[in-house]
Amino acid sequence: MSQSDLTPARTRYAPSPTGRTHLGNLRTALFAWLWARHTGGQFILRIEDTDRERLVAGAQEELMDALRWLGLLWDEGPDSPDGARYVQSRNLARYHEVVAQLLAAGRAYYCDCSPERLEIVRRAQRARGQKPRYDNYCRTRALSAAEHCVVRFAMPEGGETAVHDLLRGTIRFPNADHGDPIILKSDGYPTYHLASVVDDHDMRVTHVIRADEWLPSTPIHVNLYAALSWQPPQFVHLPLVTDRERRKIKKRSDAQQAAEDAEYAELLHVATLRQRGYLPQAVFNFLAFLGWHPGSTEEVMTPEEIVARFTLDRLSTSPAVFDVDRLNWFNQQHLKRLSNAELNALIAPYLRAAYPEAVQLTDAAWCEALSAAIRDELVTLSDAVEAARFAFEAPRTFSPEALTALQSEAASLALSALSAALPDALRLTHAEAEQLLRRVRDQLKQSHNLSGKQVLLPIRAALTGKSGGAHLVDILALLSVPELHERLQRAMLGAPAI
Ligand code: GLU
Repeated sequence: MSQSDLTPARTRYAPSPTGRTHLGNLRTALFAWLWARHTGGQFILRIEDTDRERLVAGAQEELMDALRWLGLLWDEGPDSPDGARYVQSRNLARYHEVVAQLLAAGRAYYCDCSPERLEIVRRAQRARGQKPRYDNYCRTRALSAAEHCVVRFAMPEGGETAVHDLLRGTIRFPNADHGDPIILKSDGYPTYHLASVVDDHDMRVTHVIRADEWLPSTPIHVNLYAALSWQPPQFVHLPLVTDRERRKIKKRSDAQQAAEDAEYAELLHVATLRQRGYLPQAVFNFLAFLGWHPGSTEEVMTPEEIVARFTLDRLSTSPAVFDVDRLNWFNQQHLKRLSNAELNALIAPYLRAAYPEAVQLTDAAWCEALSAAIRDELVTLSDAVEAARFAFEAPRTFSPEALTALQSEAASLALSALSAALPDALRLTHAEAEQLLRRVRDQLKQSHNLSGKQVLLPIRAALTGKSGGAHLVDILALLSVPELHERLQRAMLGAPAI
């Protein structure tokens, strides 16, 4: 189906600002956004803040930042000219109007049941082996508004409510499962059920795309639409993103498990991903594949490519697992697609923060060469700090492999041969560095029958303290000649053994 065959959809993401923005939440936002963009429609951001006790300061800003970072820009939302409409706590008059309408039509009623009474009812139901629910006691009491009253919606008493879900088909819920739900609380705020139905209707939302934890609430919503003679939207309930499954099969010690759990939980937050240097386009790509597939074997895609391919029939009905290795893989793939200049611009802030004194950071050509040298080692942008350490600091510590290389018999031959071969210049060009290394290698092969590895490993160890990392030629070209002399000298004097 091409975009022109589709009716433009109006979708919404309707978070409650009750905590830190989680990747699972953003996956919901992403799918709603993708469907709006794919159909050439609109994406709405609506803040559902009617549960006043659970509000968390700063949560709304954090989630708006997260959406912007991922590129999930909204067409209508709290920062629109009529922004109040998109923040439920600022829209109370409209909910009161609809409650009055339902009261007048006999589809809602006041209820003054105390928490104590409700508890007694629940306990008795449990004792009878029934599911606890409100017993609709006030439905026939004809109370009028009074303090501490709530308003409840009168659900149909018998029969079933059919929910049509685009992903799951028709699901039937027995009406007896629901006690009459509260729609207006005693503090004057609507509950989620009422507010979301009123807003989805008023905002002309065509597709409600949300997490499947809301599926059990949908029969209430369907009945509210019917009671108000409103056309319900299409529903799409997305399967869970699980964070456990995959890891249960591995055994770990308790301490290790706790540390890994904490690390894992951290990575579920956008602020952490951002700070560690995951690319938004990689997180976007990763999230899109948590429960959707493009119908081909392609995996690494740009947001534009995903928008073009996104259809609801390619959503999965089974839970998706949040797999950090896969997220890392996507990040590496998207890092590979960046030019050296783009990569350089992205890692520069990490390098500046880690090496504030480094004068090299003002030299654009040098910085780009450094980006080119370390790019294959990066999983995230923040990995640049370690990968580039050699360029800013002489090694202070040595890996066991580096130490072994430096203690080998070949080491002093290799280091002194290189030192002697260094020209009297400030820097080596890449070509000069290449030639120089080749010369030293050939020379020691002839004179002492040393292998390439025997020569190169101690040199790398002396210059970086490690046995792996950027190409040695790049390292030679990035360090100044005096710096090369100094590091070789220190290694020859045995400094690393200390
Ligand atoms: N406010 C609900 C939430 O926090 C939104 C549910 C819905 O999308 O209807 O997830």
